[in-house]
Amino acid sequence: MQRTNSDTLHQEALHHLVGGVNSPVRAFKSVHGNPIYFEKASGAIVTDVDGNELVDFVQSWGPLVHGHSHPKIIEMVYQKMQNGTSFGAPHIGEIELAKRVKQRFPYMDKVRFVSSGTEAVMSAVRLARGFTGRDLLIKFEGCYHGHVDSLMVSSGSGLATFGIASSPGIPKDTVATTLVAPLDDEDAVEFLFQEHGEDIAAVIIEPLPANNGLLVQRHEYLAKLRSLCDEYGALLIFDEVISGFRFKDGSYGDLSGITPDITSLGKVIGGGLPVGAYGARSEVMERLSPLGPVYQAGTLSGNPLAMAAGIMTLDLLDDAAYDRLESLGQVLQDAVEPILAKHGHPMRLVRRGSLFWFSPGSSQPPARADLIPSTAGALYSDVHKGLLEKGYMLAPSAYEIGFIATVHEEQHILGMAQALDEVLEVLEW
Ligand SMILES: *Cc1c(COP(=O)(O)O)cnc(C)c1O
Repeated sequence: MQRTNSDTLHQEALHHLVGGVNSPVRAFKSVHGNPIYFEKASGAIVTDVDGNELVDFVQSWGPLVHGHSHPKIIEMVYQKMQNGTSFGAPHIGEIELAKRVKQRFPYMDKVRFVSSGTEAVMSAVRLARGFTGRDLLIKFEGCYHGHVDSLMVSSGSGLATFGIASSPGIPKDTVATTLVAPLDDEDAVEFLFQEHGEDIAAVIIEPLPANNGLLVQRHEYLAKLRSLCDEYGALLIFDEVISGFRFKDGSYGDLSGITPDITSLGKVIGGGLPVGAYGARSEVMERLSPLGPVYQAGTLSGNPLAMAAGIMTLDLLDDAAYDRLESLGQVLQDAVEPILAKHGHPMRLVRRGSLFWFSPGSSQPPARADLIPSTAGALYSDVHKGLLEKGYMLAPSAYEIGFIATVHEEQHILGMAQALDEVLEVLEW
């Protein structure tokens, strides 16, 4: 597969953009090679600037649940564009999208739209702190919540310690407001509450952690977070930026039988345009300006084109669409598992609906980040490269998950499985 044009553009981009990219994981740093420049994309297929066609299992990292350039979404955005690209004033699209969000998240009385997942989480955290009048947060090792200062924190040496910043540029005082616990460990969270309970504003978690592998949590564990928050008067924030709108029976909170106080949303909610959102019951949301004192604003918040894309995306997510996502997921599982077993490859497929991850190691897939074997990157990069050569694009990192869209065909998935079979035939590990 020739990538001359991609490589040339990448060399030029290096002069103008940091590392040639605007978001680090696009740089292909953890797998071999340079980023691929896209020319256009339609359905499940992207065409790169060298004319190669690739079956895409990245789907813009989650937003494109209906694939690229869905004709109905394009048409809706195009129509709305005739009326203007940004109003800075209310319009009916905001009401329409909010209604659809509330249908999927019935505990929400009010919704606030922003323009990214990061912004949704950052604002939800501010609201939780404003509501409780407390400063401390608990977050979990292995959960990603966007590049929010107070959440770019990983665990220090012991549980009694506060977190350490996982990026320079984050003030010590900011990090000092964040406590970090491992996932899947009730005792660790209970301990943090016993030590700091009166000062904890919120516990924030991806209920289906999907940014560091797919680390499925036990129901009892999530239930314990709920009861600790209730006991100590803290708010429970579910970050469903990646898991939201992915499941037929509701939010991941619904699936796990747990209602959080605030949910943050992103990705699918904008169907490929920049939308984030957060919502909660009235008592909490009414602390937000203009009704309450907690300030949060946005020039492009509720943008009419973005709302239009979100509305059409959610309308297309009917029961049939969810059934299709699930059955395609099952096809993937049925095809891939025997192939991994046949080759004795130390990687296992973890799948929840249309989200999947190749978990490194032959034992039970982990529920905590520190149990992911350190061989993950090395194992994955060869598989990634081999599949790419055969026209199948997975995320360029062992820790990122794959996405199935409603426009994938069985043949795309079986083709990927077949390619995997061929790759593993010649690989050594
Ligand atoms: C992607 C993601 C974010 C950040 O969203 P952006 O739109 O990239 O800012 C936050 N939380 C979770 C769970 C995510 O998956």
